[in-house]
Amino acid sequence: MEFVDLKGLHDSIADELHRAINNVISESSFIRGPHVIAFEESFANLIGTSHCISCANGTDALYIALRALGVKMGDEVITTSHSWIATSETITQAGGKVVFADTEDDFYTIDPQLIEALITDKTKGIVPVHLYGQPAAMDEIMAIASKHGLWVIEDCAQAHLAEYKGGKVGTIGDIATFSFYPGKNLGAMGDAGAIVTNRTDLAEYCARFARHGGKHEHTIEGINSRMDGLQAAVLNVKMKYLEPWTRRREEIAALYSQHLPQSVRIPSIRSDCRHVFHLYVIRSSRRDELKSYLATQEIPTAINYPRALPFYPAYQYLEGAAERFSVSSRHAEEILSLPMHPLLSSEEVSQVCEAVNLFESSS
Ligand SMILES: *Cc1c(COP(=O)(O)O)cnc(C)c1O
Repeated sequence: MEFVDLKGLHDSIADELHRAINNVISESSFIRGPHVIAFEESFANLIGTSHCISCANGTDALYIALRALGVKMGDEVITTSHSWIATSETITQAGGKVVFADTEDDFYTIDPQLIEALITDKTKGIVPVHLYGQPAAMDEIMAIASKHGLWVIEDCAQAHLAEYKGGKVGTIGDIATFSFYPGKNLGAMGDAGAIVTNRTDLAEYCARFARHGGKHEHTIEGINSRMDGLQAAVLNVKMKYLEPWTRRREEIAALYSQHLPQSVRIPSIRSDCRHVFHLYVIRSSRRDELKSYLATQEIPTAINYPRALPFYPAYQYLEGAAERFSVSSRHAEEILSLPMHPLLSSEEVSQVCEAVNLFESSS
């Protein structure tokens, strides 16, 4: 059993992928060119924004978006204590100060009730993460942002096609970022990322900043962050399958949730939302033992992530982490990601559920 089956996924559409890659080689369209332009158009269409700016990876997408929003030395940016470190490290890189908020017990996303108390006269924006594919509490977050004049960047790296109250995530905040790291719900064959927005001013700044401040214009100093032609061609093929692959993830999640024992905490789905299950994460009070047991049954699992962000050495300068982030720090002790990918068979899901049942009833 695979935790994520990239080979199987690519084998299932191998002819199309080979044709797409061969086209890039025969055209030498490695940088910019028709595949990258087509990707930006299709992805903006898919998400439903007027602009998409492709870039080298999801971390750069966050950094570029923060720079487009004008983050500078001393600005404070509020984000979740439970994410991949790209979300917070880019705030620091842009010159800002990371202000973490703890998460909601049910959903693993930033707790909107805690945000207002963290706002100071230096606060400029909020970066919610749609973690594991679950939309964050966007109505509450947008209401706080508008009350205090803050911008919002949605980190959609794990949430391609997720929906919040009928609209796709990535269309709600001022700007949103995506990752196409191979294991993400839409994955390239290497690194790739994108920024989407409906704000023309931000789109123009992002495109300029990511391309050295504009080729032969250099109105500003920028960076070099490009999605290459090979990755764009691969993504253009895989994008067509994203909806059916996402539906299969939802089916697998429903099967897991139906057959796992009561003693483990299954994922909640926020009401009126589409959770796209980048990861299917359970909680168990005997997580480490359960993980070892599943390994003996050849069932691969992962911990996403082993610590809440404020507990890593990089953030040891923060004080009082243990009290301030009690929800996400407890989650870090209990969470376990079960195998999840569109090719997982219903038999494999049953096998995982049986093994968890056996372990949980053996205490
Ligand atoms: C993967 C990920 C990123 C970064 O994307 P890369 O393409 O790996 O740079 C950012 N935020 C979250 C939540 C992620 O899961």
